Amino acid sequence: MIDWEAVRAEVTGYLQGLIRIDTTNPPGNETLAARYLEEILQKEGLQPTLVESEPGRGNVLARLAGGGEKTLMLLGHTDVVAVESEHWTHPPFSGALIDDYVWGRGALDMKNMVAANLMVFLLLKRQEVSLARDIVFAATADEEAGKGNHGPGWILDHRPELWDAPLIITEGGGSDFSVGDQRFYTCQTGQKGLCRLRVIARGTPGHGSMPHGNNAILKLSKALAGLEGAVLPAHICGSVRKFVEGIAEQRPEAEAATWRQVLDEAHCDEALAALPIDEEWRRELGAVLRNTASVTMLQSGSKINVIPGEATAWVDGRLAPGQTQESFVAELRAFIGEEVEIAIDQYTPPLEADADTELFRVIQTVMGEREPGVPVLPYLMPAGTDAKHIMPRRPETQIYGFMPYRQKPGEEEMKLIHGHDERTAVEELLFATRVLYEVVSRFASVD
Ligand SMILES: [Zn+2]
Repeated sequence: MIDWEAVRAEVTGYLQGLIRIDTTNPPGNETLAARYLEEILQKEGLQPTLVESEPGRGNVLARLAGGGEKTLMLLGHTDVVAVESEHWTHPPFSGALIDDYVWGRGALDMKNMVAANLMVFLLLKRQEVSLARDIVFAATADEEAGKGNHGPGWILDHRPELWDAPLIITEGGGSDFSVGDQRFYTCQTGQKGLCRLRVIARGTPGHGSMPHGNNAILKLSKALAGLEGAVLPAHICGSVRKFVEGIAEQRPEAEAATWRQVLDEAHCDEALAALPIDEEWRRELGAVLRNTASVTMLQSGSKINVIPGEATAWVDGRLAPGQTQESFVAELRAFIGEEVEIAIDQYTPPLEADADTELFRVIQTVMGEREPGVPVLPYLMPAGTDAKHIMPRRPETQIYGFMPYRQKPGEEEMKLIHGHDERTAVEELLFATRVLYEVVSRFASVD
């Protein structure tokens, strides 16, 4: 029998310990967190491996040996985004425990899951669970810095023998949400791709005193104006289909019909507008139905009296599963025209895991027992996680984002991610630890 009250104190202590280590990326300094975890694992009689891609950028992995079934990895990143400490109620690296909340940067993204993963891993060892597969604990560097590659990508390139994990549970899903009075959980099964590009207009340089008809800035402006109110075509992937159908199944008939109509690519936007959900969610749902393009930066000219020869805008493009950079650029052209050049700077393909697997079903079963009547739905995330470093190198990997969290009505803690006053309820940290332990031990133990 596991003493869950003792686990509550232990896992809370791990989260506080991790938050007190400043791993703001850049520069990261994740080795400090990796050492902290390494020491805990060693004390437990395990043999963790600490690897650095360069000094300070540490990753720690440990393995529990089991039978020959596919290895399952519990993956978390130890770096965090920067803080503006003057806006925090309690210092962001204090790990303060106040009214059963642990405060600090990383409390939700994602030192909480690193602590829960560690706890699950230690419990499997202590309970001497007989395993049909290896379980790997991995706490890695450099998720938060855009192109960063000091974490999973680096390990796969330089120490692949440490990885070997065709199944992964990590961040990106697991929180609950409500439609009317019906609650649901997400389990992330996909994420959108990235296609970051520049739109470049070229014109004739000249003196500001003598306008001509070939001004680069005006040409660029005309192209960008085409994006005003632009709605790119819908491409609805399997994860979004299952998500929307799962909601529809639980709703009264008239409303369910509107949900189902969201899956009709020709009429999804009318249906979306009619759904009884808040505007923020409507925007998110709109974004997962299609590719999106946001103009985020502009540059041209250097002097008031000089007509520049070139003008550039940067576009942050996000791709739905099944889409490619070519298909995205073709869609974009329909709005911005042919008068400008397009140069792609960064491309990460969209990802989607199979929701029809044993692991996904175990997640659904365990949650169904803990919270009867609250379905777990596949979910497509509009942004990305470390999966973007893994899938290009190991395309057969099934990655699920699942860190259970019951949000308090009116609090919506998930909105604190990357913001001020990030904090996590101890009750939810324990809840996640129990659910994850149940999922992993059930999925991995020899029956
Ligand atoms: Zn994260």
